[in-house]
Amino acid sequence: MSGSRLRPADPGQQRTLRQAALCYAAHGWPVVPAAFFDGTRYACVQADCVEDGPHPVWRLWQGRASTDPDVVASWYRLFSFAVALPTGTVFDVVEIPEPAAVRVQDALVGHRTPTPIAVWRERGVRLFWVTPGLPADDRLTAMNARIRGEGGWVPAPPTPTRRGPVHWSLPPDEAEWAIVAHEDLAKALDSLN
Ligand SMILES: [Zn+2]
Repeated sequence: MSGSRLRPADPGQQRTLRQAALCYAAHGWPVVPAAFFDGTRYACVQADCVEDGPHPVWRLWQGRASTDPDVVASWYRLFSFAVALPTGTVFDVVEIPEPAAVRVQDALVGHRTPTPIAVWRERGVRLFWVTPGLPADDRLTAMNARIRGEGGWVPAPPTPTRRGPVHWSLPPDEAEWAIVAHEDLAKALDSLN
């Protein structure tokens, strides 16, 4: 792995990202290292990369996602990487634009079916963890929501971006690492009308 273009982050930030990656892996969420926003640009391991946003550091990352703590620790030991999580295996993620996202979050909490929810301010969306294989849904389409499923990925907190780090608005601990079922998401969406 060529790291010549990767600037070291401050050690505290590097440690925080490593700990987050290890925590996700320990809970069975496969992890992929992602490009690190260094205050100017998104640095990855590809010399010719022009992507201006978080993204996995390898083009062919699908087979390399891991929950193995030794493998994950080795990625984060030397380099400053952010954290990407593949979708479509352990969970799908629904990307819902603000402000509809706030109403969906409130409905899920109100129905006592919490699920991990992250804020990706750079995109103006919240990311809702749901069980895999979520079918298309007219209510989500009407919100301009996007389902990230098989073959996709999302940036995970605390991945740094131009608009500050991706952060949890409902941390996995508060949902006891449970992921909302399709029917419970549907009930929450039904209650919005
Ligand atoms: Zn790149």
